[in-house]
Amino acid sequence: MPGILFTHSYFYRFDAKQWKTRQPYPPYGTIYAAALMRSCGFDVHLFDTNLAQSADEILPVLENTRPDYLVIYDDGFNYLTKMCLTRMREAAFELAKYGKQHGCTVIVNSSDASDHCDLYLGQGADFVIPGEGEITLRELVMTLDGRQGAADGGQWAIPGIAYKHAASQPDSPPTVHRTAPRQVLNDLDSLPDPAWDLVDMAAYKDIWIRHHGFFSLNLATTRGCPYKCNWCAKPIYGNRYHSRSPERVAGEIEMLIERYGVHHFWMADDIFGLKPGWVQRFRDVVRQKNLVFEYKIQSRVDLLLKEDAIDALVDSGLREVWVGAESGSQKILDAMDKGTTLDQIRKATELLKRKGVNVCFFLQFGYLGETKADIEATLRMVEELRPHNIGISVSYPLPGTKFHEKVKNLLGDKQNWEVSNDLAMMYPATYSPAYYRRLHRLVHKRFRLRQGLDELQKIFARGNVNLLKASKLMYYAPAAIVDKWRLQRLERSGPGIKKPYANI
Ligand code: SF4
Repeated sequence: MPGILFTHSYFYRFDAKQWKTRQPYPPYGTIYAAALMRSCGFDVHLFDTNLAQSADEILPVLENTRPDYLVIYDDGFNYLTKMCLTRMREAAFELAKYGKQHGCTVIVNSSDASDHCDLYLGQGADFVIPGEGEITLRELVMTLDGRQGAADGGQWAIPGIAYKHAASQPDSPPTVHRTAPRQVLNDLDSLPDPAWDLVDMAAYKDIWIRHHGFFSLNLATTRGCPYKCNWCAKPIYGNRYHSRSPERVAGEIEMLIERYGVHHFWMADDIFGLKPGWVQRFRDVVRQKNLVFEYKIQSRVDLLLKEDAIDALVDSGLREVWVGAESGSQKILDAMDKGTTLDQIRKATELLKRKGVNVCFFLQFGYLGETKADIEATLRMVEELRPHNIGISVSYPLPGTKFHEKVKNLLGDKQNWEVSNDLAMMYPATYSPAYYRRLHRLVHKRFRLRQGLDELQKIFARGNVNLLKASKLMYYAPAAIVDKWRLQRLERSGPGIKKPYANI
């Protein structure tokens, strides 16, 4: 039976900020593709890099399994892979090299490879599958393996692939050829459930239990997002929006609860429950099956305010929602084409909190045209609305976005972050890169300080207190003062610097 070794290019250990949180999630997109290939009769294995120390750990797996194909298939549902981090790109190149050394046909599907097919083909990949990958992968491997008659033009005519094309002149380098794009998959229920059995679940569970006291797994119920926030790249699933049925999702949750004893899920969709009536039906199915679990999602404030969305979400187990608040300045939200308002952020936050849901904000600094007043408006919003948690980034121009088009002529050599905490400003914003790094630290410290103060108030109000948060006051209070002082110094030297800050 022909063998396929699946792997992917994300290593938590290479990404200090993520590794520190000790919240690893299995590569959902990878095991989705693996399940489909297994259903076609291939002998499928997984080398999961998430918890590995280095790429060369794949070598014994290649020796033992002797696969015909090495498929480097990133988890396109996880936002970490969408950042196209250079540290992970280097790891993918190493994996491809090892695959070639072992005689494999190497196939790559990832956000970064979709944007830079030429780089991956230049590093040993035989084929890149840009965008949504499963159906193209099946057709490509079935054709290469002689299990399916090749269409006119053989594998070279299969829609949705990129490969190196020999030049007509002997001394010229090969060129990259991309075939016609593949139609997106409309019927997500036609795919088999992900191959969870390939995951070393004990290793994930051990990390979660040791550091958090509970275990969480990831799921995706949809693909794509139809909104057009102009900095958001969606190279894998694009601007469409397709959903699995609530019945299939609930069935997968039921299996995961029974098999792995997990009662918390991260729904990794870009936007959870956008399809009208979906969350209500999901709630009904969850009730019929008597499933007990909690989950967190990413959503939009405008969507959450629609009809009884929040009630249905809460009734089915929602405990935490991350929303792209982004900025406390309407001017900046409009410049981003975010399509939401400050009023919606406020209303959704208040409503969710009343229902006992933790509301967390994604925030972004350094967008084009953002002034000191806009930054202060964002700080005020955080202070007033008191989210449960915050995730701060600086504007990051990813290929294929309107935002990238606007700044591409200002970019320096560095066009990707090394790791997710890189936070480099890659074009000249209002202030220097050092300013935004300091701002990032200050906002976090002020936020933790505020949480500590709130905990202290609870001591007096109820005697019910999170001592850890309260004790952190001792650190965050003086640290925030120092950061504020440093930020003011950077602010004075900030505006007027014109060059790109490529390698700072
Ligand atoms: S709503 Fe979220 S996923 Fe959709 S375009 Fe905006 S940032 Fe991207």
